[in-house]
Amino acid sequence: MFAGFDIGGTNIKAVLTNDNGAVQYYKKIETPNSANDIVTCVSILVKSLAKTASQPLSSIKGIGIGTAGTINKKAGTIISGVNIPGFNNFPIVSKVQKFLNIPVTIENDATTALMGCISRGYSSGLNNWILLTLGTGVGAGFVFNGNIFTGQNGNSMEVGHMCINFHGPECPCGSNGCFELYTSVSSLIENAIGLIAKGIPSSLYDRMNSEPLSSKIIYEEAVKKDEVACSIFSKFAHYLGIGISNLINIFNPEAIILSGGLSQAHKCYLAETQKVIASRVLNGFKNKCRIIPVSENDYRLLPPIGAAIAAINAYGNS
Ligand SMILES: [Zn+2]
Repeated sequence: MFAGFDIGGTNIKAVLTNDNGAVQYYKKIETPNSANDIVTCVSILVKSLAKTASQPLSSIKGIGIGTAGTINKKAGTIISGVNIPGFNNFPIVSKVQKFLNIPVTIENDATTALMGCISRGYSSGLNNWILLTLGTGVGAGFVFNGNIFTGQNGNSMEVGHMCINFHGPECPCGSNGCFELYTSVSSLIENAIGLIAKGIPSSLYDRMNSEPLSSKIIYEEAVKKDEVACSIFSKFAHYLGIGISNLINIFNPEAIILSGGLSQAHKCYLAETQKVIASRVLNGFKNKCRIIPVSENDYRLLPPIGAAIAAINAYGNS
């Protein structure tokens, strides 16, 4: 068996798979605030998964960890986790291995989501394609002539920090006007808070009396045609279209697969995004790239499945 983890800014998701990467069990907890607490959570989840499967811990042959931020795969460190405080030059692989005495491998979370997509058949027939993850932040993975492109040390495609507005607001990464400042869950919520503070009438007010503001609420109210919620998704659709147009013009991919929580809200933005793409991509590239949201059943599981597959690739024959 193998364990796969997706450490995001909001939740840690974990799966236990068989030796072929088929999911046996899934667990999820909120991401704690400190890096050391995250190591403790990962260790507890591995033990809990083994217990749920009624198997000894020793039956888990490897652990894969996909994480937001930049990584050094060889050194097993997280260089910088923009959305996770404390993840700076953090040796997560050695820390988790010390707790559990099980080999651990690390990948960028967009790479694990990409591996999950391949495992679930989304890339069937595709040779050059991009996975775009729209979650707390925005990430991407790229398959180039059938191979996963990982850059020089396990990182590439940090498209969330592609500048799409030179005069835009400052980003925690140090740049400004980054793609994810307009197309992430965080950006939707910030945008909503800004509009609500202006006192514009919206059904979002009523929802917020009984639950915290979330991208799910904004999506549900946009479906019901609330003007504020619709305008938030309209802005989102516009900037998403700009970013995707850049990616199409650079890579000329056969498809861009949308994953992450906001991929499930596609009916609120995809038609508008497609119009922006049609107006911005080069003539030879128009209507050549399919935009494919992953299914509701898959979007939560793709990154931890991919992380487990990374562990199978690393330790499957040992
Ligand atoms: Zn940035």
